[in-house]
Amino acid sequence: MNTRRRFLTLSALGSCTGFGTLKSLAQTKPVKGPVILSTWRTGIRANDYAFEVLQSGGSVLDCVEKGVNMIENDPNVGTVGIGGFPDEEGHVTLDACIMDSRQRCGSVAFLQHIKNPVSVARKVMEDTKHVMLVGEGALNFALKHGFKKEILLTEKSLADWRKRKAEQDGKLPEINVENHDTIGMVARDAEGNLSGSCTTSGAGMKIHGRVGDSPIIGAGLYVDNDIGAACATGWGEAVIENAGSAMVVELIRHGRSPQDACQEIVKRIARKFEDWESIQVGFIAMDKAGRAGAYAIQKGFTYAHHANGQNREIKSDSLIS
Ligand code: ASP
Repeated sequence: MNTRRRFLTLSALGSCTGFGTLKSLAQTKPVKGPVILSTWRTGIRANDYAFEVLQSGGSVLDCVEKGVNMIENDPNVGTVGIGGFPDEEGHVTLDACIMDSRQRCGSVAFLQHIKNPVSVARKVMEDTKHVMLVGEGALNFALKHGFKKEILLTEKSLADWRKRKAEQDGKLPEINVENHDTIGMVARDAEGNLSGSCTTSGAGMKIHGRVGDSPIIGAGLYVDNDIGAACATGWGEAVIENAGSAMVVELIRHGRSPQDACQEIVKRIARKFEDWESIQVGFIAMDKAGRAGAYAIQKGFTYAHHANGQNREIKSDSLIS
C-alpha cells in the first residue's frame, strides 16, 4: 500500500474511542420478541428457518444450530458444509462452533467428511467434558455419535478449485469480499436468552491443516447471556489475533452499542494488522435488548436481520467505502 495513503488512513482511524454512532436499522431501541442475525445473503434463508424452529417450540440453541445447518446442507453454497471450498490440496476441512445462554460451548476444527460440523460441535458441548475436538478425533467422535461420512467435494467445488489452482499457481490468495462466507448466527428468543453458531470451510486455498477463527470461542463467536453475542467473518487470522468476537461483547458490556462495538473492533484490527486493506473482516452483534450492529473493513458485507416479523438483508457499513 502507498505509504502516504496508509499514513493518512491510519491517522483517520484515530484512537479507540469517539467514532460516530451509525444510526441505521434497530440499533437504538430495545427490540421485543425474538431477534436473529446472520452473516451474508444466505443468512436470509438461515434466519427464516431458524425462526420457524423457534416458533415450533425449539430452543434458541436449536434455532442457531438448525438455521446454519440448512446452509451447510446446500451443495450450492461454496463456503460451508457440503460443497465447501477445498484447501490447497483439494480437501474440504470444516471448522465450526456453538455457544449457548449457559456459557457452554462446543467446537470442532479441521473436520473432514461430515457436512454438519456445527451439530458435531453441539454434541461435543452436550455430551463431553470438553470444548474442542479436532481432525481425526473429531471425525471419530462424530461417527460414534451417528453422523454420516460423506463426500463433501462437489463437481462444482472441484472444478472451481482446479481453476483457481491453475490461476494462482499454488500461491495463497488474500481473502477478500469474493473469497469468504462463514455463516455466523446470533439469536435471542422471546425470553431474552442468547445463543450463537459459526460454521465454515475456511479461507479458500488455505494450507492443509489450517484452522481459522470460526471454531475458536472468543474469536469467531462469543456469547454472554447477560450482555450480548457477536460473530465474525473474513480473514480469520486477524480475528484470532484480536480475540474479535469476545472484544465486541466486552465493549457492549462497557456500554457501547453493538454497532459501535463492531466498528471499534474492526478499526482496532485495521490499526494492528499490517495488510488490513487487502483483507475483509466483518462482525455482527446484538445486545441483550435485541439491538443489532455490524461493521466490516471492506464494503460488500451484508447480513440478515430478523426481528418484528421482518427478515431483511442489510448492508453493513465499512471502513473502506
Ligand atoms: N473466517 C473464516 C476463516 O478465516 C473464513 C471466512 O469467513 O470467510 O476461516
